Amino acid sequence: MTAQILTATAAELGRRIAARELTSVEVTRAFLDQIARVDGDVHAFLHVDAEGALAQAAAVDARLDAGEELGPLALKDLFCQAGVPTTAGSRMLEGWRPPYSATVTQRLLDAGLVILGKTNLDEFAMGSSTENSAYGTTRNPWDLDRIPGGSGGGSAAALASFEAPLAIGTDTGGSIRQPGAVTGTVGVKPTYGGTSRYGVIAMASSLDQPGPCARTVLDAALLHEVIAGHDPMDSTSIDAPVPPIVDAARSGDVTGLRIGVVRELGGEGYAPGVELRFREALGLLEAAGAEIVEVSCPHFDYALGAYYLIMPSEVSSNLARYDAMRYGLRVGDDGTRSTEEVMNATRGQGFGEEVKRRVILGTYALSSGYYDAYYGSAQKVRRLISDDFDAAFAQVDVLVSPSTPTTAFRIGERTADPLAMYASDLCTIPSNMAGNASGSFPCGLAPEDGLPVGFQVMAPPLADDRVYRVGAALERALGSDGVLTDAIAERWVEA
Ligand code: GLN
Repeated sequence: MTAQILTATAAELGRRIAARELTSVEVTRAFLDQIARVDGDVHAFLHVDAEGALAQAAAVDARLDAGEELGPLALKDLFCQAGVPTTAGSRMLEGWRPPYSATVTQRLLDAGLVILGKTNLDEFAMGSSTENSAYGTTRNPWDLDRIPGGSGGGSAAALASFEAPLAIGTDTGGSIRQPGAVTGTVGVKPTYGGTSRYGVIAMASSLDQPGPCARTVLDAALLHEVIAGHDPMDSTSIDAPVPPIVDAARSGDVTGLRIGVVRELGGEGYAPGVELRFREALGLLEAAGAEIVEVSCPHFDYALGAYYLIMPSEVSSNLARYDAMRYGLRVGDDGTRSTEEVMNATRGQGFGEEVKRRVILGTYALSSGYYDAYYGSAQKVRRLISDDFDAAFAQVDVLVSPSTPTTAFRIGERTADPLAMYASDLCTIPSNMAGNASGSFPCGLAPEDGLPVGFQVMAPPLADDRVYRVGAALERALGSDGVLTDAIAERWVEA
């Protein structure tokens, strides 16, 4: 019984709860027990809110008239949830309990989605491995010596270890898609402005976007629908109807769809198993009726460099609010020191190395005399990337690439080399720069290491449904509902 609950899709759990075959409390308890059993190994969660989750579940059971319910969820610890500890993976916010909930959090609660707890991430979402978390590294359920991706590695690992059927992430440069790719799960970055950033702790505001994580394409679409839509509290929120994502996920029909393979995204090349599974996936989509062509986006080569000017510039500005006066940590305030001394001591101790690196880089890029050369040039590159997307989408319906150049690397392997770490996001960053919709879908295991490979689908702004359509076609063609093989379930779910 418990095994059936843990391996079910969220859609299935919702149906069974609505049909009163299962109670929300039973389902919630099953996942809380699984977390208690395996999270010592995986470390996906920073905070488990057992009491809160069970109270929410009881409320769902009591009202059960709200239509389709979904299974419980793990929330990236970057989202404010009123009264629940929210750290952003940083010492700076240790012990902080937000006085309000993010719009996304509130929509989840309103829809009866039980929130099991807050998941681990790189500090302030800066990283590709969760190794920058101040609270320890999350481990990849496929191989505990490897990273689960980042920054949303906790959310992805929670899905792959069956601690939750659904999770929420944020994607600034790839933090939903790259963890999805390396854990064999689904992750979608909605069109910028498609989901609300209100109450999401800011990293780089012109790039940040909340989105759904799940083990199946339909589950991701159902979750996406719950959180999407206009929010007057976010000034960049788009006031337009939510694209028909759930229909697209159910359909998976790619007949006649024109799919463009981006020539430029490989950097120094993809790992052999990544290239192999990506090419096989293209073959499957072609067999399903899609037309595959090669497309050139010449400025994508400069995306990573431009991102590492724009993103840190916004980081340096956004993180100025941690001034030791208003939030969380305050160091050395013994009555004898000036405000500036306290601020310096607090920021010195409260921020980790990667956060400091980015604040310093961004402050430099924005400084007078350098602004035009760095920040200004990067903004011009950003425009050229958008133009490349526009030109490509005049020829094809979606663009595709591997989600990340390699499978999950070993913990510690890239910590000494920031550039190697940054290269994890070579393929994902262009969509953040242009603000279009993009998702990562499992497309098999690399033969050389047996680890999951992700297939990225990019669609024009507000055409998020095309991302799901291709993802669903792939899921179907691979003959697996979620592509988490029996092997991974066998490993993490007790019969
Ligand atoms: N890994 C990228 C970075 O370190 C992306 C982070 C994110 O999307 N939050 O900036």
